[in-house]
Parts: sequence; C-alpha cells; structure tokens
Amino acid sequence: MTIWDEAMDHALAVARQAPNHGDVPIGALVLDPAREIIASACNERELTGDPTAHAEVVALRRAAQVMGQWRLEDCTLVVTLEPCAMCAGASVLARIDHLVFGAFDPKAGAVASLFDVVRDPRLNHRLRVTSGVRAKECGEVIRGFFGKISGGDVSEWPMELASKASVGQPTEGSNPSVTAVEGAKE
Ligand SMILES: [Zn+2]
Repeated sequence: MTIWDEAMDHALAVARQAPNHGDVPIGALVLDPAREIIASACNERELTGDPTAHAEVVALRRAAQVMGQWRLEDCTLVVTLEPCAMCAGASVLARIDHLVFGAFDPKAGAVASLFDVVRDPRLNHRLRVTSGVRAKECGEVIRGFFGKISGGDVSEWPMELASKASVGQPTEGSNPSVTAVEGAKE
C-alpha cells in the first residue's frame, strides 16, 4: 500500500458522507508538505446550494484557512475523481504542488480526459499528477450513488482507466503539449 493509497482511503471515507445531504460522493483532502492532512471536504453543492462547492474547492478553502494564506505551495490535493475545469484551475491558482486523483471522468475531467489544465505550459504554475489511485473504489462509490437514484446504467462512468482517446493523443483543437498521464506508481 502506497502513501497515496492510504490518503485515498481517507478521501473515500470523506466522500461517503456526501450522500447524507444528497450530494454526489466525491471526497478531497489537502496534505501539507509533511503529508499530514490539513483539510478535507466532500462535495457540498446540495448542502450549501453553491455551484462551486465541489469537494476540491471546499478543501482548498479550508486548507488556506489552516495555512493562513492562499498559497498552498508544496501541498498535495488528493481527490477521488479527476477534477473538473473549475477545480483543476483552482488547484493551479492555489499553487498546489501535486495532484493525486482516483477515477477518471471522461465527461468533465480537466486533467487528462477532456483538457489538461494543470500541466499547460502557458500557465504560470504546473502540478505533478498521479492518477488512477484506488480508481476502482472511487468509481464504485459514485456509480453506487447514481445507480440508486436513477436505476440507470452507469457502468461506464467514472472510469478506472483513462480512455485511449484522451491520453497522449490530443484531439482537434486541444493543446498539443498535453502529456500522457503518469500512472499510480508512486
Ligand atoms: Zn470540480
């Protein structure tokens, strides 16, 4: 078990709280440079009625409060699902050093699937990325939630692996410098 597996277990436990208030079970942690958890949050959109209350944004806000500053340099963001464009952007703005995520999100992912916001050389800060950590469990938690409320077929989303089309093969109009996703080897 790697340190990231362990951290992701914590993020999964946080994610599992979200359905208590009708939110999609996504969980996020911020670790300080010593890799201690300084903030955690689940998705709170329904709870707070706030469209920006994704787990990552809420966790980044809490971490900034703990650190007493908006710069979260040398900190790690751990999240159960590949961040969306907003959260990927927020992690760049917070100067997060390392992003660790679980399942891939082919519908909205902005780290590998649709865009690569966190490693775009045109921005003034880039993150290291470790993907696919505990991806199976991370995806199952979300699929279980949607399966319960819709009864629909959600077996294809989120995904445990990046879809072939999204990794290292930029599609038309995308940034050609997008790089392949680092595996969860760390
Ligand atoms: Zn988001």
